[in-house]
Amino acid sequence: MPLLINLRDLDDAQPLRLAGELPAADLELDQLDELIHFTRPVTYDLTVEKLEENLLVRGRVEWVLDCECSRCLQPFADEHEFPDWACHLPLQGEERVPVINDQVDLTSTLREDILLEFPQHPLCRPECGGLHKRPGGKQKVKPTPPDGGTIQADGKASAWDALDNLKF
Ligand SMILES: [Zn+2]
Repeated sequence: MPLLINLRDLDDAQPLRLAGELPAADLELDQLDELIHFTRPVTYDLTVEKLEENLLVRGRVEWVLDCECSRCLQPFADEHEFPDWACHLPLQGEERVPVINDQVDLTSTLREDILLEFPQHPLCRPECGGLHKRPGGKQKVKPTPPDGGTIQADGKASAWDALDNLKF
């Protein structure tokens, strides 16, 4: 279901409640960034009031982006919300919103605001150190010898020893 306001429902001047889910496909935001996948529905809980020749829409909007970290490439869920989203939609004048079959579509307005919240460089956590520090990932992490020494378990000298020898 697209996010539609039916103006006939506003005739009694009572605020109209709109709550539900907007399919991600309606927002067409999935193909903009290869690290950001917008596939889950947006949940909204809004009230709509008609104030003279404007619609005032207010309420909560929540969505989750499935991102890949731009440093370590780990997938993570990136939760977002507008706890108090608001928009004015003029019904008259040059800026008036299109009304089709007495309905106003909020989808493009919401799309613009969500797009502004897209992370520039998604990070799994602010201090993510990138690939070389990834714990539990696919990369093999060599254990550090308990003594921090350079002699390996099989008794051979390590590359560091070889470097030391080169100096002499
Ligand atoms: Zn990361």
